[in-house]
Amino acid sequence: MNKFEQLGLNESLLKAILDLGFENPSEVQEKAIPLLLEKDTDMVALAQTGTGKTAAFGFPLIQKIDADNRNTQALVLSPTRELCLQITNELKNYSKYEKGINVVAVYGGASITEQAREIKRGAQIIVATPGRMQDMINRGLVNIKNIDYCVLDEADEMLNMGFYDDIVSILSDTPDEKSTWLFSATMPQEVARIAKQFMSEPVEITVGAKNSGSSTVSHEFYLVNARDRYEALKRLADANPDIFSVVFCRTKRDTQAIAEKLIEDGYSAAALHGDLSQAQRDGVMKSFRGRQIQMLVATDVAARGIDVDNVTHVVNYQLPDEIETYNHRSGRTGRAGKLGTSIVIVTKSELRKISSIERIIKQKFEEKTIPSGIEICEIQLLHLANKIKDTEVDHEIDNYLPAINNVLEDLSKEELIKKMVSVEFNRFITYYKKNRDISVGGGERRERGDSEPREFSNNGAVRYFVNIGSRDNFDWMSLKDYLKETLDLGRDDIFKVDVKEGFSFFNTDPQHTDKVMDVLNNVQLEGRRINVEISKNDGGGRRDHNNRGGGRRDSGRREGNFAPRREGGFRSDRGSSRDGGSREGGSRDGGFRSDRNSSSRREGGFRSSAPRNEGGSDRAPRRSENFGDSSRPRRSRRD
Ligand code: ADP
Ligand code: MG
Repeated sequence: MNKFEQLGLNESLLKAILDLGFENPSEVQEKAIPLLLEKDTDMVALAQTGTGKTAAFGFPLIQKIDADNRNTQALVLSPTRELCLQITNELKNYSKYEKGINVVAVYGGASITEQAREIKRGAQIIVATPGRMQDMINRGLVNIKNIDYCVLDEADEMLNMGFYDDIVSILSDTPDEKSTWLFSATMPQEVARIAKQFMSEPVEITVGAKNSGSSTVSHEFYLVNARDRYEALKRLADANPDIFSVVFCRTKRDTQAIAEKLIEDGYSAAALHGDLSQAQRDGVMKSFRGRQIQMLVATDVAARGIDVDNVTHVVNYQLPDEIETYNHRSGRTGRAGKLGTSIVIVTKSELRKISSIERIIKQKFEEKTIPSGIEICEIQLLHLANKIKDTEVDHEIDNYLPAINNVLEDLSKEELIKKMVSVEFNRFITYYKKNRDISVGGGERRERGDSEPREFSNNGAVRYFVNIGSRDNFDWMSLKDYLKETLDLGRDDIFKVDVKEGFSFFNTDPQHTDKVMDVLNNVQLEGRRINVEISKNDGGGRRDHNNRGGGRRDSGRREGNFAPRREGGFRSDRGSSRDGGSREGGSRDGGFRSDRNSSSRREGGFRSSAPRNEGGSDRAPRRSENFGDSSRPRRSRRD
C-alpha cells in the first residue's frame, strides 16, 4: 500500500496521482487529507508556498464531490487569474479518472458570458477569483447557495490584495452548513478574522517551513538593458566558475538559440525543449546529471519535474509569462537542504514583476549588479589558483618532468607562478579590458524602501574580500547578519554582500574600515581564521592578495552554526558539487593539450581564446576547463 492509499484516497485518485508522478504525500497533504476525508469539518491549514496545498484540498474535494449531481457543490477562491487557472488545471488532472466531474474557472479579463455558459452546463466545482465571482453573483449568473465546500486558497494573499469585502460578501451567499477550508502561507490578523467569523471550530494544521525548498533558495535580480541580456548571462556564469544551473527561457526557439550561442562561446551548455525527441532529451538529461553540462537551457514545460541534486543556480533568462511559474523554476535549486540561488535577469520594463513574485514567494529579492570584468577576472584567477592547489597529480607526469624542468629551471618560484597563471589570465583580462560595463545604474526600487540605497554606487565605499562563503553555509543574508553582529554594525552599514562558494565580497563606508580589518582578521570561524582584505577592484583597480597575518581570538558567537570544511587558503573545490563529476569524467583523450591554434572549445586553462579570435571579432572568452578540472572528458581537436 503506498502512502497515498494509506491516506484513504480512492482508486481513481490513486491512478491520477501515479500519472502526476507524486511518490509521497507532502506534510500538509499527509495531515490534511485524512481529516478532510473522514468528516465534514472546517479547517485552517498553514503551510508555506510550494508545499503542495493544492492537492491537500484538491484530492479530498474530488473524492467528496458527487459526480452524478450536476449542481455546484464546491467553490474554490484564489487570488489571481493565474492561480485560478492553475488550480482548475490541477483539479482536472486529479479527477481525470473520475467520470463526470466538471471544474470551471471564473476570473476577470475573459468573457463572463462564456464562463456563465460553462457553469450552466454543470460545474460541480468552481474555481474563482473573488472579484469576478462577486460580479457573477451580482448578475445572478451563478448559484452557490447550496454548496457543501468552500476553499479559501492562499487566503493571506487574497486579503493582501484587498479582497476582504468580496470574500465576506461571497461567503454570506453560501449556506452555513458547508465546510470551509482555509489554506494560507501565513496567518495575519485579517485571515484570523475571516476564520473566526466564518468557520466553526476549525481543525488547525500547521506545517513547519522545513520541508519547503524555498527557504533554502535566495533570490536575486540583475537589472540590464534588453540588448545585454545574453552578455549578462555569460558574465554571471563567468563569475560563478562552478555554476551548475538550469537556465529558463520562454520559448523553444529562444531556448535553442541561447543554448547554441553558449555552446559556440565555449560553455558547456545544452538545450532541453519539446521539439527534441525523447531520446535526445534523455541524452541531455543524462549529461546534465553527469555534470558534463553546466548550463541546461530549458523551457518550463521541458524542465518540469527535473529533479537533479546540487543545482547551484536557477537563471531566469526571461521571466515566465505567468509569474506563478517562477516557483516551479526556482524549486529546481535548493533541494534536499542545499542552498541555491535563483537569479532573474530583468529589464526595466519587467521590474514590477519582481514585486509580484515577491508576494507569491513571500521572500525578498536582492538587487545585484552584474560583476565587472575586473571582478570576474579576480574570481577566475582565484579559482584557478585553487584548482592548481587542489589538483591531484598523476604520476605519469614524472616521466616528463626532467624535460620540463630543463625548460623552466631558470625561473624562480615566484616568477613561475606568475607566468603560469598569466597563461590564462592574460587572455581573460584582455577580453574584459575591451568590454564595457553592462550593469545598469538603476535604483527603481529604492523608493520602495526595500533595497539598500548604496547598492548601486560605491560612492567612496570600501569593498572587502573575505575567505568565507557558501561553503561555510552562508548566503548573502546570513553573511550580512553575521558581519553585522560580529562587527557590531547597523543593518545598512554592510552592503553589496556577494557570496561565492569559498569567499565573499562586501562593502562598508570608509569610516568602518579599521574596525572591519581589526575585528574580522582576529576572528575564527570554527577554528579557522577569517581573512579579510580590501578589494581594490571597485574602481577597476586590482586587489592585492597578500595573506594578512592576524592573531587568533575566538569571538565565540557562532558555535555550531556553521561548519567550515577546511582550513586556510581562499577556497578549494573539494567537496563542491563538481567534484563527483570530476572523478567520473577524468579521462583525457588526446594527451597533452596545446592551447596554441587549437580550435577546440573545451580546451584547458581557466579561460581560453578571448584574444585568439577565431573569426568573430568581439566574442566572449570561451568557457573552458580549469586547471585540474576534468569534469568533462576533453576533446582535443587540434586540427
Ligand atoms: P502550494 O499551493 O503549497 O504553494 P502547490 O500545490 O502549488 O503548492 O504545489 C507545488 C508543487 O509541488 C506543484 O508543482 C505540485 O505539482 C507539486 N507537488 C504537490 N504535491 C506533491 C507531492 N506529494 N509529490 C511531489 N510533488 C508534489
Ligand atoms: Mg497554492
